[in-house]
Amino acid sequence: MKAPLVQLKKINQVYGKGEKQFPALKHIDLQIREGEFVALVGPSGCGKSTLLRIITGLQKASSGVVNYKGAPLKGVNKEATIVFQTFGLFPWFNVIENVELALADRDMPAKMKTARATEAIDRVGLDGYEMAYPRELSGGMRQKTGFARAIVAEPELLCLDEPFSALDVMSAESLRGELLELWSEGKLPTKAILLVTHNIEEAVFMADRIVVMDKNPGRVIHELMVGLPHPRNRKHAEFQLMVDQVYSLLAGQTQPEYLEYGTAPGEPGITRKLPDVPIANIASLLEGLIEHNNKDVDLYKLADEFGHDSDSVLMATEACELLGFVDVKQGDVSITPLGQTYAEASITARKEIFAARVKRIPIFSWLINLLSSSDERKIERPVLLAALELEFHPEEAEIQIDVLINWGRYAEEFVYDDTNETIYLE
Ligand code: ADP
Ligand code: MG
Repeated sequence: MKAPLVQLKKINQVYGKGEKQFPALKHIDLQIREGEFVALVGPSGCGKSTLLRIITGLQKASSGVVNYKGAPLKGVNKEATIVFQTFGLFPWFNVIENVELALADRDMPAKMKTARATEAIDRVGLDGYEMAYPRELSGGMRQKTGFARAIVAEPELLCLDEPFSALDVMSAESLRGELLELWSEGKLPTKAILLVTHNIEEAVFMADRIVVMDKNPGRVIHELMVGLPHPRNRKHAEFQLMVDQVYSLLAGQTQPEYLEYGTAPGEPGITRKLPDVPIANIASLLEGLIEHNNKDVDLYKLADEFGHDSDSVLMATEACELLGFVDVKQGDVSITPLGQTYAEASITARKEIFAARVKRIPIFSWLINLLSSSDERKIERPVLLAALELEFHPEEAEIQIDVLINWGRYAEEFVYDDTNETIYLE
């Protein structure tokens, strides 16, 4: 066994103050060894991103120890790099300039920086696009630029926070393959990779070891080795068995309702996020289930059939579950009578059912109350953003506003005026 690169001992993270205080991470013990590709999976809000920030020293945990190569980590870990889901490129810099940024504080001649950046761009398969600006690139190419920027720094520890989830299915799949190839052929100077994902299939496809987390409080509930040889085949029985195994670890944990639905912003407890799902996906998931004659369907098979990535199917399932349209048990989804009614209803009736259900979700009813108690029954986006930033990080708060607006418009509860960024009660 190789030496541990990262060692976490009894990590705890508490967020919030006073009544709103909650344990985001509880008692995390984790090791990442040299040569390992580790995936961290778990539902949204279980603390995956928080854990990454703690491992890389971007954030200091409330308590516990982070060791890097046997010594306590002080400040930001210069040997580690994180690639985020949103590409984080500067629009006014071209590809090579964006990549060279990673070497900005290195003491080396400018020519050498350019040479190294060019080489990294080659390695991710972007040669020829050195001078292109982010707006000229597809999502996949932007994420490749993000990877190039990460590997040019030659990090010992490469951390990836849901790096494929903002991409379309095809680009995500080819980028996964390319990353695996770079890694398994030893073309990366990297000693270990830590991939955060809520996509279980992706974890089984790529990782040597899967660390399964759950939330309330965020904790590790299981670790399993993936012994399958590369390249892995998603259709193989062993592959599917592994996926099912992880699903059943994650499902089956029943929570009291206030935890399932969350609390309103500003109330004690955890505000549950709305899944970022277009309304159309909710209906198409339900229609798919009806085609299965309402038998229980394996979540993972459903994703396969729809030709959607499992991310978007999981999100649609989460939305349907929140709305009471499906039940999920042990990784199997079944449609409820209400879900069936919704799927078969007219457009107007669908809206009515949706409106009645969505108002039960605390974050949604909180916004309705906020609007109805304001003088002109309106709220400006920045004001709403400030309120939500007390609960979520700024990026997530923006996403939540967009989902609230989309869902609220569909339910005919809100009107949104883009020109003055104001939400009105309908
Ligand atoms: P994941 O990446 O698994 O979705 P996160 O680490 O982003 O989870 O968040 C875990 C929990 O902590 C969530 O409930 C989230 O809203 C909350 N949280 C994350 N960052 C902060 C922060 N800086 N301040 C307060 N709460 C936070
Ligand atoms: Mg996250």
